[in-house]
Amino acid sequence: SVILGIESSCDETSASVCIDGKIVANIIANQTIHELYGGVVPELASRVHQQNIVPAVHQAINVAKIHKKQIDAVAFTRGPGLLGSLLVGTCFAKAFALANNIPLIEVNHMQAHILAHFIEDPKPTFPFLCLTVSGGHTQIVLVKDYFDMEIVGETLDDAAGEAFDKTAKILGLPYPGGPLVDKHAKLGDPNRFKFPEPQIADLNFSFSGLKTAILYFVRDKVAENPNFLEQNMDDICASVQSRIISILLNKLKKAALQYGIKDVSIAGGVSANSGLRNSINAMAQTEGWNVFIPKFEYCTDNAAMIAIAGYYKFLKGDFAGQDVAPMARMPF
Ligand code: ATP
Ligand code: MG
Ligand code: FE
Repeated sequence: SVILGIESSCDETSASVCIDGKIVANIIANQTIHELYGGVVPELASRVHQQNIVPAVHQAINVAKIHKKQIDAVAFTRGPGLLGSLLVGTCFAKAFALANNIPLIEVNHMQAHILAHFIEDPKPTFPFLCLTVSGGHTQIVLVKDYFDMEIVGETLDDAAGEAFDKTAKILGLPYPGGPLVDKHAKLGDPNRFKFPEPQIADLNFSFSGLKTAILYFVRDKVAENPNFLEQNMDDICASVQSRIISILLNKLKKAALQYGIKDVSIAGGVSANSGLRNSINAMAQTEGWNVFIPKFEYCTDNAAMIAIAGYYKFLKGDFAGQDVAPMARMPF
């Protein structure tokens, strides 16, 4: 089967082609306009999606060396995400399905982040745990089957990606700050500054206290020394990053013990973080885990994960009707 995947939930316009479960093209058009505003501006995002979607699909079809008549189904992100952005991908997918007389497949973006683990070998075996950490979500998911997933822990306030991006903003780094915090952290001392770990008994997370602690810490230090940030950027980033990672991994460890699971994975944009990747590999040694980490290009938003999710739905004959509407919030 040949599946075309479309992703447009936030600020990446992406198109991918999956042939018999193998990804043969994954085109991602990033939007740079949002850097000017320090965050994604929804109205601008949907307009740029409209400009980028047709070229992205053309390019994906070219790279895959197929003709559009060979496509058996079109899979698209139905949600969660920005409604205006989702509408562009949804409308394109519906029109493409109608024009080519092929089935339409709706995909949940958060499930797709997890199903990115099925793009390449080695693949985890069911049931496994996935720590999904992205710009809008932080979840521990018990994955029982491709589309049978249970959220066993999640953030009560900010997402992990937001914690990275807001930290970067407080430190005066441009948006999106996560990758820049990662870069500075590589050069710094993670034990130099101590930031608080929230005390939450269950498998849920909280990051808003950390954000406030960083805000006051920076305010007080800069009042003493106006050059404090420039002089200590690497150590601050390393210290904050190590705290975010310990918050995430302590809960993941707890979940793995609670559910007696050894196949453990990470997914979503923050799983691109080098510190998190190193730390989970280290924890795998002490906990006896098999750890699964997606390739960088499949961590942040991409249509390959939508196409692979679409492929597994295609095998089940799980299709959507032309009346399907995007959902800003969408449960599993
Ligand atoms: P969601 O998937 O929850 O709808 P999203 O699609 O916007 O949100 P992703 O594209 O999956 O999120 O991830 C983007 C987030 O990942 C941003 O917050 C970004 O800062 C963060 N991120 C990307 N690379 C890194 C990195 N190396 N270190 C830390 N954070 C990173
Ligand atoms: Mg993005
Ligand atoms: Fe995402």
